[in-house]
Amino acid sequence: MAGHAHSVAMMSGDTTEWPDGAEKIGSLFRLPSPVEELVDSRLQARGVRLLLKRDDLINPDIPGNKWRKLKYNMQAARRYGHKRLLTFGGAYSNHIRATAAAGFLFGLQTIGIIRGEKRLPLNPVLAYAVEHGMILDYMDRQTYRRKREREVIEALRDRFGDFYLVPEGGSNELALRGCAEIPGEITEDFNFICCPCGTGGTLAGIAAGLRGDQEAIGFAVLKGADWLNDDVLRLQEGAYGGPRGRWRINLDYHFGGYAKTKPELWSFIKDFEERHGLCLDWLYVGKMMYGIFDLVERRMFEPGATIVAVITGPI
Ligand SMILES: *Cc1c(COP(=O)(O)O)cnc(C)c1O
Repeated sequence: MAGHAHSVAMMSGDTTEWPDGAEKIGSLFRLPSPVEELVDSRLQARGVRLLLKRDDLINPDIPGNKWRKLKYNMQAARRYGHKRLLTFGGAYSNHIRATAAAGFLFGLQTIGIIRGEKRLPLNPVLAYAVEHGMILDYMDRQTYRRKREREVIEALRDRFGDFYLVPEGGSNELALRGCAEIPGEITEDFNFICCPCGTGGTLAGIAAGLRGDQEAIGFAVLKGADWLNDDVLRLQEGAYGGPRGRWRINLDYHFGGYAKTKPELWSFIKDFEERHGLCLDWLYVGKMMYGIFDLVERRMFEPGATIVAVITGPI
């Protein structure tokens, strides 16, 4: 119940812009998300502690980090009087699915611009989006690459009328502010906080919420994603006017790239579930967790260190 009271209080300043929003968040979103210690002999052997920040438990329809990124964007859309929110994504995008669910919940019309050709029947992600009121439209790959350009956005405005724009993956300034709340919800002392990286928005936000010499480590799920360093900097520049917090990105645990996997990742996830009863999402969280355990094994963390792993999903 403490979590209940906390989230309502947190949102209460915004209730005028967001009718019944605070109440809904208080009752449907589990915030702050729980923190649990993971007891595992492999960690004990190296003298480190691992805490799980269970953002996967925030809401059954919206993965944790997607909600953290959408929350202030939905508020802003309301505040500026928008009736529609438009965003972009691939045909299997978690962000598209989460945006549809959030729009449905808070009574905001959503429009999803999907990369590539329309295919029928709709895959489960897009079918879910349509069931939750999202209008889908498709954009050829060439135009999709130019989706940040004024001309492309103007054409969308001509077609759909006025809308509040959320970029692909949901990572913008307000998304960072939502993710920056994660470290502050953890009352125990920690040295490192880890999260998976797709666009880097979650990492950029988390790093901005750190205190003292705490450090954030992002685990890239895309192959050769060294551009992520620039993207995280650029996102922090946009949100805060400059770099914030200590962070770095590990590029070694992508397992071949986005939505690619290897047998050793599967066996790690299966073994982890047998030991701990927690099924890790293989697109993101499984790769990060494999990376953490591998770095622990290689003594990359000092004995006595406390590490937090943010369980960003799945749904
Ligand atoms: C989308 C997603 C991410 C990636 O977050 P970014 O902010 O884009 O780096 C991580 N974990 C899960 C479970 C996701 O759905």
